[in-house]
Amino acid sequence: MTSERWERVYLVTGGAGFIGANLVHHLLETAATDGMRARVVVYDALTYAGNLDNLASVLGRDGDGGSCVFVKGDICDRELLRATFDKYEPTIIYNLAAESHVDRSIDGPGVFVQTNIVGTFEMLEATRARRDALSAEEAEALRFVHVSTDEVYGSLGAEGLFEETTPYSPNSPYAASKAAADHLVRAYHKTYELPVLTTNCSNNYGPYQFPEKLTPLVLLNAKEGKQLPVYGDGKNIRDWLYVRDHCSALLAVALRGRIGETYNIGASTEKTTLQMVEAICDALEAELPRIEGSYRDLITFVKDRPGHDRRYAIDASKLASELAWAPAATFEDALGQTVRWYLDNAEWCRRIHEGVYRRERLGLDADGT
Ligand code: NAD
Repeated sequence: MTSERWERVYLVTGGAGFIGANLVHHLLETAATDGMRARVVVYDALTYAGNLDNLASVLGRDGDGGSCVFVKGDICDRELLRATFDKYEPTIIYNLAAESHVDRSIDGPGVFVQTNIVGTFEMLEATRARRDALSAEEAEALRFVHVSTDEVYGSLGAEGLFEETTPYSPNSPYAASKAAADHLVRAYHKTYELPVLTTNCSNNYGPYQFPEKLTPLVLLNAKEGKQLPVYGDGKNIRDWLYVRDHCSALLAVALRGRIGETYNIGASTEKTTLQMVEAICDALEAELPRIEGSYRDLITFVKDRPGHDRRYAIDASKLASELAWAPAATFEDALGQTVRWYLDNAEWCRRIHEGVYRRERLGLDADGT
């Protein structure tokens, strides 16, 4: 039975990471707007990518608008997962905890298999045990939303879009580990009738992103007058989505999505890597004009990533038509807001930079070339 004090209890694995933290904020803000008493339980192992600073404004809050509590734990830890489910009785479970960086998966795929595949299996098992402990009526509200990526579909040619029916064809260890997890989620619905939903999303940008990823990396390097590395010829295409729009889609899927279905999430914003880097430079120029020359002068082409997919593009029409979802932000506005957030949060950036990460190049061939 859900704790009477809370009308809805969310569990967000990976809630101290980039998308997870944005989702936690979005869930609490939406609950406050709706006058709902909601609790968000963040379950996160705090790997290099997890950062409690991302939740500083909401953690420990336990007031009228909502509550946010933190459990430090690995999604592979069966006992702790069960204890967390028993203690907090979540109704909507978001599985975002993952190893998420393609370059790191090239250097060390083992942890990707462990967290992304074995961890998702343990999450499914914990949810199944929870469901089985509930009456049929109580289990009605239970949802397991598995957050995945468009990278599972492989690479597109010049034409076409990824649809929910596009066959899986993952090319990196990261994409393969997410694909395997997606298959497990599907199987738990077909086999055990677990109330699951899967989302496959395009590339996100926005606040709280760990600066090994393109947007903050370019932004912070540009600000410091450092080179802006662009892989290969810079013509690989990605479909960019503002993270808060991703979060509104994740809430729509949990509340209104059809159980057992997959939803692609994207904003039809295709950009080559070079175009994206130039757009970040221009947005930064608007906020903080470079004293000599322009930030674009810092762009440097570097050796391509092995197995680098050429083009991703999402058809999100199912999400739009079934769940009436649309991105709220235009690309220009959202990128401007993103740039301002990193400029306004220099202390957040400094603290991350003082940790383990130095913005070094990852994911090269075994000989380091
Ligand atoms: P991230 O790397 O910023 O955050 C991952 C979080 O998971 C971190 O807080 C980390 O501490 C936690 N974590 C890692 N291993 C864990 C484990 N074993 N147990 C518990 N917690 C663990 O990732 P992100 O960019 O926020 O991505 C979140 C999810 O969204 C991932 O599943 C990713 O595959 C998916 N996704 C990301 C994007 C994107 O553009 N970033 C796009 C589509 C889908």
